[in-house]
Amino acid sequence: MEDKLMLMIPGPTPVPEAALLALAKHPIGHRTNEFSNILADVTANLKWLHQTESDVLMLNVSGTGAVEAGIINFLSPGDRILVGSNGKFGERWAEVGQAYGLNVETITAEWGQPLDPAQFADKLQADTAKEIKAVIVTHSETSTGVLNDLETINRHVKEHGEALIIVDAVTSLGAFNLPVDAWGLDVVASGSQKGYMIPPGLGFVAVSAKAWEAYKTAKLPKYYLDLGKYKKSAAKNTTPFTPPVNLIVALHTTLGMMKEEGLESIFGRHERQKNATRAAIKGLNLPLFAADDCASPAITAVAPPNIEADKIRSLMKKRFDIALAGGQDHLKNKIFRIGHLGFVSDRDILSCIASLEVVLLELGYENFTPGAGVAAAAKVLNG
Ligand SMILES: *Cc1c(COP(=O)(O)O)cnc(C)c1O
Repeated sequence: MEDKLMLMIPGPTPVPEAALLALAKHPIGHRTNEFSNILADVTANLKWLHQTESDVLMLNVSGTGAVEAGIINFLSPGDRILVGSNGKFGERWAEVGQAYGLNVETITAEWGQPLDPAQFADKLQADTAKEIKAVIVTHSETSTGVLNDLETINRHVKEHGEALIIVDAVTSLGAFNLPVDAWGLDVVASGSQKGYMIPPGLGFVAVSAKAWEAYKTAKLPKYYLDLGKYKKSAAKNTTPFTPPVNLIVALHTTLGMMKEEGLESIFGRHERQKNATRAAIKGLNLPLFAADDCASPAITAVAPPNIEADKIRSLMKKRFDIALAGGQDHLKNKIFRIGHLGFVSDRDILSCIASLEVVLLELGYENFTPGAGVAAAAKVLNG
């Protein structure tokens, strides 16, 4: 049966019908009052979502472009930075730093393990000369399903006093409580195809007053990603370059939906679906790749023993038209990942787990009582 695709990957995530219909409209001119009014609304709602009074800027880039902008606007060549690296995305931010000639030091943990905040504390406390200009942390490491302890790491950054905290919040924003102002986060980057419930194409960067101070003296080259341009335009409810008009109209719709649902409820839904998914995987006697106390709200990685993870994925797709994500790099074929981010309902979780049970049986994995995964999920979803 065609046209029943269910995306259970950590981006692109499913898009609600109201947003799909907004995408189908004729584009409107981006220098019109009509569009400016939409931008004004979107800007206000982005601040609400980020729990900030400061700027949240919008660029036509993927999540990587948003993080890159968040790095290069506030630093100068040779600046010393600390980058947390415990997965694909942490590795990427170290590479971006190197590409721009920054003095990059990584703080690593095994893939599947969380970063150790004490290692950040050690480096930051030892830096009495205040040479460390920024600390970059991937909050939810999508490649492994690990949620890093950003709150504690950030506390150590605050004690240092000089360094900026730059956060890849691509799969935590809109899934997990991330109070940007209350925590004093300086730069927070995200992308439209994750918690925002619209297709790929927009990146977002929240910028604190302290980061704008650093911007004034930052010397890394930039043009299209120069956030000063975006701030200036945003003050006039416009954009420096042609924005993806239809995506922004769709975003207007989904931010409205999110506001209606409320932050508490959104975070509660992600927590509940994470717990249901993890309970189900345990019910199927399959090993979870990340421990309970550092589990991402957006993505659950599973390491099936004695079965190729990609066989599970391809049968899930073929039999049930459910798309799961695979492992990256050395985890290729070793893990599969279930996304539960954005426009995902409890029903989707149940469908996914029930389908997974059938697929496991078809592949000859019999180390569970049929129905055990669904039963475990049902118990959690029952509240
Ligand atoms: C998806 C994702 C990104 C951005 O990836 P793009 O392909 O550039 O959109 C960055 N960080 C994390 C943790 C992600 O999950």
